[in-house]
Amino acid sequence: MLNLNHHATGRHFLQIPGPSPVPDRILRAISLPTIDHRGPEFAVLGLKVLAGMRQVFKTRHPVAIYPASGTGAWEAALVNTLSPGDLVLMYETGHFASLWGKLAARLGLQTEFIAWPGVDEHLPQAAGWRRGVQAELIEARLRKDTERRIKAVCVVHNETSTGVTSDIAAVRRAVDAAGHPALLMVDTISGLASADYRHDEWGVDVSISGSQKGLMLPPGIGFNALSPRALDAMKTATLPRSYWAWDEIVAMNQDGYWPSTPNTNLLYGLSEALDMLQDEGLDLVFARHQRWAAGVRAAVDAWGLPIQCADPAVYSPVLTGVITPAGVDADALRRLIHSRFDLSLGTGLGKLKGRMFRMGHLGDSNDLTLVAMVAGVEMGLKLAGVAIKDSGVQATMNHFASHAAPSALKTAA
Ligand code: PLP
Repeated sequence: MLNLNHHATGRHFLQIPGPSPVPDRILRAISLPTIDHRGPEFAVLGLKVLAGMRQVFKTRHPVAIYPASGTGAWEAALVNTLSPGDLVLMYETGHFASLWGKLAARLGLQTEFIAWPGVDEHLPQAAGWRRGVQAELIEARLRKDTERRIKAVCVVHNETSTGVTSDIAAVRRAVDAAGHPALLMVDTISGLASADYRHDEWGVDVSISGSQKGLMLPPGIGFNALSPRALDAMKTATLPRSYWAWDEIVAMNQDGYWPSTPNTNLLYGLSEALDMLQDEGLDLVFARHQRWAAGVRAAVDAWGLPIQCADPAVYSPVLTGVITPAGVDADALRRLIHSRFDLSLGTGLGKLKGRMFRMGHLGDSNDLTLVAMVAGVEMGLKLAGVAIKDSGVQATMNHFASHAAPSALKTAA
């Protein structure tokens, strides 16, 4: 058997912000025998995961499930609703927002980016990558679009490259305030099932997600949650589509089946993940991630290093980005930590390459795995000669010890 674990003992610490560590319970579910995807048992599984995903997206409308990574689900959202040459307004929160723009351009769409116009002392090259979407900038741009050329507004809910969330309800209000008919599309690939998300309430037309983050599954499932307006847009949209087309999928999903072969074993895993999320309750899941994030941020504050997200109102509950001091190559630090402690951290992407690393706090984690992650980073910082103010490990321990887990509060109640 292929053994990629260079360390003889223990589990690898997969602390990148997705793929996240997969709970054993889900891995066991995935290992069940593959069944006939046109047989009667399959429909039970299909209907269950479709209903469960509607609950997770908080929608009454259809959710399309694809054997695909998040990028496929991005493409599906665009090709189902838009036509060649359509103008799409995007907001540059970070690397993933930029990549979605590149994908849109390759499909023959016109893209226009809005970015935060301010300056930043730590990262002058990526000032806007430290803040969430400023909805008023979107409103102002839409108001100017008197000819209604903009057909969709695309934003990222949890920017995985930075650890910054965006207020999607505020974006909806901005679109409404401008009285603009553009569709609202939201990438919640790394937000869903870790951070609060409400497809219907926030008036999102297409929500895009993937399996390998908050849903705690391996990579390989992509999702589109739809709105009636998005389904209507499909009737006139002319970008070429076949595999991604919602109409056949939604029609066959009525009975729990798919037009092409679904990824059966990952759907077993999804069924198990949905049970876990439902047993815990989504609100507790969100509170658990918030608490973890606060514990990890306590370490970064103790070290005296800047957090990538410059606005505490939009700290990500899923990951924390840390800016390394000038002259310290964050990737060299990551390599050192990986080789010494078998701990993987997220790299700085795009404009942030070498300037920051990302600590994931999602998936199959708990207080002690996160204390261990912080310990691995702290040892790495010391080995790399980075001056730190105080012990981050102590700060994280103090935080977790003095803030009871939300599940403990529920048990005590
Ligand atoms: N959008 C966000 C916010 C992501 O975090 C990712 C991947 O990490 C993607 C899009 C791309 O998804 P994938 O790599 O699954 O294709």
